[in-house]
Amino acid sequence: MDSTLRPEVQVDAPELETMATADYLEETTVETFTEQVHGEVLQPGDAGYEEARTVWNAMIDREPALIVRCTGAADVMTAVDFAREFDLPLAVKGGGHNVAGNAVCDDGLVVDLSPMDAVRVDPEAKVARVQGGAVWGDFDHETQAHGLATTGGIVSTTGVAGLTLGGGLGYLDRTYGLAQDNVRSMDVVTAAGELVRASKEENPDLFWGMLGGAGNFGIATSFEFDLHRVGPEVLTGRVIHPYEAAGDVLRFYRDFMLDAPDEVQCYAAFVRGNPAMGLPEHLHGRTLLGLLPFYSGSVEAGRAALEPIREFGDPIADTVEPTRYTTVQQRSDDLYREGDRNYWKSHLFDDPSDEAIDTIVEQVESLPTPLTTVFFEWMGGAISDADPDATAFPHRDATVSFTIAPKWTDPGRDDELMRWAREFFEATAPYATEEVYVNLLDQDEPERVRDAYGERYERLRELKREWDPDNFFRMNQNIEPAD
Ligand SMILES: Cc1cc2nc3c(=O)[nH]c(=O)nc-3n(C[C@H](O)[C@H](O)[C@H](O)COP(=O)(O)OP(=O)(O)OC[C@H]3O[C@@H](n4cnc5c(N)ncnc54)[C@H](O)[C@@H]3O)c2cc1C
Repeated sequence: MDSTLRPEVQVDAPELETMATADYLEETTVETFTEQVHGEVLQPGDAGYEEARTVWNAMIDREPALIVRCTGAADVMTAVDFAREFDLPLAVKGGGHNVAGNAVCDDGLVVDLSPMDAVRVDPEAKVARVQGGAVWGDFDHETQAHGLATTGGIVSTTGVAGLTLGGGLGYLDRTYGLAQDNVRSMDVVTAAGELVRASKEENPDLFWGMLGGAGNFGIATSFEFDLHRVGPEVLTGRVIHPYEAAGDVLRFYRDFMLDAPDEVQCYAAFVRGNPAMGLPEHLHGRTLLGLLPFYSGSVEAGRAALEPIREFGDPIADTVEPTRYTTVQQRSDDLYREGDRNYWKSHLFDDPSDEAIDTIVEQVESLPTPLTTVFFEWMGGAISDADPDATAFPHRDATVSFTIAPKWTDPGRDDELMRWAREFFEATAPYATEEVYVNLLDQDEPERVRDAYGERYERLRELKREWDPDNFFRMNQNIEPAD
């Protein structure tokens, strides 16, 4: 490693027995740290501190002792050294979207990567070099300027890093695999504060574990992604059915998607009708089932491929039309806006049975708040075709991810709405696998981290012992190092 990339932290650690919080940090210590990084260092009371500690889910209200707004890998390395030296809990903030709020911690140091949002495209090589704090809106903006794209999240403010390091579902996944299946290499700051490269050739075990390990093995400061020709227009839209038809529509959806071409992706979501969906007033507030078909190839080929979805039943709205890919990638931003209270419970299904569908339809009858959604993300296609051993993501054979996502604003309703989600989850659990996509776990589910990795869990624990034996990176869905 180039030693110039590794600035030493020259501060004196105080002689204290217990150093679990930052209470003892002296002003001069913080000043020295501030001088050693190029990014801002924020403390409670500083301008920008409140914004920097805020994450997507308003249920999370944590007060870090320090937030360092990193400008590059060197700041990240300095921050890791500093946190280790002073025994500070450390959290890594990418897009800040994780529902469990793992991007921030109380009393510790937050490594805020959001200033590191550069995306540089090599259109000849079809490669994007992306910094660790970029969000999908940054990624799509730069890559679509060249008619290129890679599987990415369906809300533009979600972080590239957090989504990719857990898996990465999106409209292009059945055609081009998960977001992480498109990663060529990464620059990673390890728990030892070193900057290393991870790829199939360099540190291949770290590369394997980073892609799926959801932040357990290091801080990705940049990624190299493969790109593909997409758009600029694709065929997509919403096909909306009344609640009364939901059972039949979901059965059709399951049967159609089990045999659909890989270029077809279609999400399904229960929502309450609202004006932003372009629906007539009498449907506002009513529970509806929306299908969101998408075709990754040409608009002409898409018309034939999506026709069965548009023809089935008696939809009350059909907005399928050629749409700019960048617009598609932002169309759910309002529904999943930041700043509300959220609680998620998620399963994976192999092949949702008729009984599972009936149970879901029954449970969903009255969505408890206007912005609550219950959604299906179909998998298969290129996700299943990828080499199962190439990354730590274990759910290559799962058919569909299913998430119950109440969303509300009044803290007085927390208990009621979390209970609603838990009861819904329990009612559908008998039909689901025991697995779960790690990126959809909430903050109260540490025992389900094993379910998120299944048989891979022990290998990941061994890897954790190798790369992070002290469990320094623990503000995540945590994999404890093997004994
Ligand atoms: C509105 C919304 C839409 C979503 N849509 C999708 C979707 O379409 N597809 C999908 O697969 N998932 C989706 N998700 C889930 C999403 O993948 C996870 O929430 C993911 O963790 C978000 O990443 P982030 O960088 O925004 O989050 P953060 O909260 O910043 O980070 C999440 C975790 O990753 C770690 N982390 C972040 N950056 C780095 C880094 N550079 N290096 C190492 N660790 C890091 C953090 O420490 C934390 O543990 C969505 C979530 C939300 C809230």
